[in-house]
Amino acid sequence: MKKILFVVLISLLLTGCGRIPEENRDIFCMDTIMSIKVYGRNGGTAADDAEEELKRLEKLFDRGDVGSDVYAVNNGGAEICADTESVIQAALEVSRETDGAFDITVAPIMDLWGFYGGNYQIPEEASLKAALGSVDYKNVFVKNGMVSVMNNAKIDLGGIGKGYASDKVCEILTEHGITSAMINLGGNVYAFGEKPNGGKWRVGVADPDNGGESLLTLDVSDAAVVTSGNYQRYFESGGVRYHHIIDPHTGKPADNGVRSVTVVCNSGVRADALSTALFVMGKDKAVGFLESNPEIGAVIITEDGKAWYTESLSDCITINHGTANEVINVSKY
Ligand code: AMP
Ligand code: MG
Repeated sequence: MKKILFVVLISLLLTGCGRIPEENRDIFCMDTIMSIKVYGRNGGTAADDAEEELKRLEKLFDRGDVGSDVYAVNNGGAEICADTESVIQAALEVSRETDGAFDITVAPIMDLWGFYGGNYQIPEEASLKAALGSVDYKNVFVKNGMVSVMNNAKIDLGGIGKGYASDKVCEILTEHGITSAMINLGGNVYAFGEKPNGGKWRVGVADPDNGGESLLTLDVSDAAVVTSGNYQRYFESGGVRYHHIIDPHTGKPADNGVRSVTVVCNSGVRADALSTALFVMGKDKAVGFLESNPEIGAVIITEDGKAWYTESLSDCITINHGTANEVINVSKY
């Protein structure tokens, strides 16, 4: 008996019984590669449930899937489930806050540029003008599980769905008693709790000229870190880059000297929508917004090689430089 106990003890020591179990999942979902690292005893079931939840949300938000809620909204249907209602509500709220810089009714514009489907092309001015007739978040109404649209508006949740999904994954992890996880839904990061052995998570902000390198890093816990950048999805024609973040007022890729915006806050859905919106607004308007919303942290990288960050991030930022020739705290500017 003693001998058995001894063997068990030795094997536990050898396998590192003090090590915190880690579960990793790489998932292709919502048109992107997602990865989830979950630490702790229930990590396996928590990660399984998180993966299932991501697939469920993908089915609701995919506008090409005839069974999805978004397809129903875009084709005259009205009844949607609670998750779709929450995302649309969150989207409309950010639209109101940003004077329409964020607008889920850009769907027909995305189609014209070929960003939906991958048939890239520069649309005719007349087609853009015609399509802009239905682009206005005020065309969308949601209440008690029902959506209605005016002016034949069509919606696209590509700028907000992954952020919402990251919040739902956090909810599931909490239900399983998890206190440490790193969620990365194709650039929509959520640093959940702290690192398994304590301490903040380190999240890199990509160098727009070299996505593989971090221009700077942020040490955070319980925070969404979401980047919208003009290097993430684009095509080039005649030496010009046309990217996927559309100014809903012009129907064209936002062209205002911004290369990327990273938003840090405790809500994934807000961080996702706001990173897109602040990109569209451009640096000066974005800084104005950030000044009146101090709970939102942000890093804005501009074409002149500067990186601007909010005061709230000054304690957690480490600068690696890369192509940034100046890194500026906006409150001291
Ligand atoms: P993100 O990468 O989160 O900045 O979102 C970009 C995606 O959101 C695009 O691929 C479109 O599906 C959608 N989108 C583009 N421009 C806007 C906009 N101004 N407001 C809302 N969604 C947008
Ligand atoms: Mg977004």
